[in-house]
Amino acid sequence: MLRIVLGFVVFAIILDAVHPGLFLSIEGKIGLCLIVLSILAWEMYSFWYFHNDKFLKLKSGIEDHAIDCNNLNRHIEQLKRTRLDINSYDYGLSDRYDTSRYNFKRNEWARTKRDDKIHHCSASVCKAANDQPFKYLCKYFDIDVSEETLSHLENALNNYLAAYQGKVLLEQERDRLMQSLTDPLPSLFYKLSKNRLAKELGFEPVRLVDINFQTYKFQYVSSGGNSSYEVSIMLNMENLEKFIKYLGDKIRFKNSAKGQRALMTPLLREKIKKRDKNTCQQCGVSVGDEPNLLIEIDHIIPISKGGTTTEDNLQALCWRCNRTKGAALSQAKISACE
Ligand SMILES: [Zn+2]
Repeated sequence: MLRIVLGFVVFAIILDAVHPGLFLSIEGKIGLCLIVLSILAWEMYSFWYFHNDKFLKLKSGIEDHAIDCNNLNRHIEQLKRTRLDINSYDYGLSDRYDTSRYNFKRNEWARTKRDDKIHHCSASVCKAANDQPFKYLCKYFDIDVSEETLSHLENALNNYLAAYQGKVLLEQERDRLMQSLTDPLPSLFYKLSKNRLAKELGFEPVRLVDINFQTYKFQYVSSGGNSSYEVSIMLNMENLEKFIKYLGDKIRFKNSAKGQRALMTPLLREKIKKRDKNTCQQCGVSVGDEPNLLIEIDHIIPISKGGTTTEDNLQALCWRCNRTKGAALSQAKISACE
């Protein structure tokens, strides 16, 4: 904020130097100079304060907590990167040329991209996909209506929900730690520039960029290449939850034994947390001990090893234990491949 004010003031001084007397009186110039000097003095004081022994002592006092917050931050970033790889086919390579003798422009054709998440189709398929997105998503993007797809989507939704919840809890925990510093100066910095104080205390910045949700598109381009139409289906959290219910119903309809299980919905997540009293079933830490603790839902026997989403195979784990378990599983996977 202060830097923006400084930038604006410097800009005003330069403008006045180029066009003298355009809008600044002599009193105005003195006022602006005083503002610049005050900001520079504040910046110099801040630099001195953040390198002062007293502040460095405060910083080392919460160092372990800051490291813990940074680890949670990285864990959230990993959860956000969960991909929906439910139809990753390699359709091969080809080249396209317009070999017509006339100089047709086919503007819309030139704009279309080749992508395995875009299906080029007739206008009527586009319209039908708009009416019944999930039905057409499965049909035209070769998405298997199977337990495997369902588990994969449930896992992705579970990770996205944990990422969202984790971000809120992480920010609350950072604020709690910063406010717990008894020295009055950090409180002043907290009010003036929270992000700067967080940075000086060793907290890594929390990225505000959202999850890049998978989007599937149906695209119609007229044969003349002059008009086009597009239906876009974004599998954000709301739509993903609906898609999971849709696939769950289809699988139940097929009467598969596994299809009779409960779906991993936000409701079930909350039920398991309540059943396990918001306590990590591995290390025993609870929300009572750490108010901003991120509790995740874990499959005791992982889905990759034949586990299912049944209540007796689900447990509440703190993010630290879940992260360690996830890392151990991927390490075991790498060792098995070697
Ligand atoms: Zn734990």
